[in-house]
Amino acid sequence: MEKRFVYADNAATTAISPYVLEKMLPFLTEQYGNASSVYSIGRKARTAVETAREQIAAAISCSPEEIFFTSGGTESDNWAVRGICESAGSEKNHIITSAIEHHAVLNTCRFLEKKGYRITYIPADSSGTVDPADIEKAITPETALVSLMYACNETGVIQPVSETGEICRRYGIPFHTDAVQAAGHLRINVHEQNISLLSVSGHKLHAPKGIGILYIRKGTNISNLMFGGVQENALRPGTENTAAIVGLGAAFENLSSDMDANRRHTEKIRNHLESRLLESKKISVNGINGTRLPGISNISVKGADGEQILLMLDLKGICASAGSACTSGSSEPSHVLKAMGLSDAAAYSSLRFSFDHLSSADDADYIADVLNEILRKI
Ligand SMILES: *Cc1c(COP(=O)(O)O)cnc(C)c1O
Repeated sequence: MEKRFVYADNAATTAISPYVLEKMLPFLTEQYGNASSVYSIGRKARTAVETAREQIAAAISCSPEEIFFTSGGTESDNWAVRGICESAGSEKNHIITSAIEHHAVLNTCRFLEKKGYRITYIPADSSGTVDPADIEKAITPETALVSLMYACNETGVIQPVSETGEICRRYGIPFHTDAVQAAGHLRINVHEQNISLLSVSGHKLHAPKGIGILYIRKGTNISNLMFGGVQENALRPGTENTAAIVGLGAAFENLSSDMDANRRHTEKIRNHLESRLLESKKISVNGINGTRLPGISNISVKGADGEQILLMLDLKGICASAGSACTSGSSEPSHVLKAMGLSDAAAYSSLRFSFDHLSSADDADYIADVLNEILRKI
């Protein structure tokens, strides 16, 4: 077997697309003006920032004034959860979230828990899905916020966001969703889905690292993330990262137009890999009974160590993840897989492959061939 390079870790990060880079380059070179300055190169930067805001607003069906640029998914999640709770008043001291959230949400909740908040962590079923009825049952007059991810970064399982949004609308509770994995792959309509706050990260959708947005519905009470000048309505001040903002706008524009074709292509590659892997009795697919994002495949390999297989895959030029990238290096089994009822051993034996529209059937075949060879050895 000839050695190849196969990037199958798009849920960890993606390559900047050539289109995005081309749009960004002028703002890293001659168009370096501060978007708040009055002279020509400053005004050009301002126009570019506001164009990007419009592109993103159009993609998720909101007004441009409801888009706030941040440094990425982690910052947006922190701001949403903390900002809503801080502005809600001391009688609203309860948060509802799920057991399968990204650590950016979970650890913000843990921080607030130490400050005296009560947190309800709604479990997932064996398919990796949270039941909106459980969310409704957990609501109390003290509930300040419901935070449920749009789609899980480890399994790709899509969560009942519209149903949860409808429940939160009826009870008048702000609803935050971490859409970092979903954005660019699924059609999002914050208005129809009754979403009050939504997090997106650029580097998960072929824009650069260090840029993201928090959508904040008009009229939502939220405290400042930082204090400074008047940028981002004075809620998230600091000189705009013009080039990265332009890149994020371009990525949304690009992906929105090709979304359906990309989704079908990506899903075909993922399903091809899984059909080949499932020929082995040692392999099971986690979350296969859930509704999933097109590109993510999370498997368990009976009797194996995921980290060890990962290193063997790397020797063959394959980039993948064991559990989630944010927890690799720590020896904790994945909290998501544990929440779905997997044993420690099954969680430690897990691997995640994540494809996108640039992946090919040859990539999937190469992964399957290499993995079969590894399974024969161990
Ligand atoms: C990657 C990711 C984040 C963190 O985003 P950064 O931009 O890397 O900070 C948050 N939530 C989910 C679901 C993610 O996949």
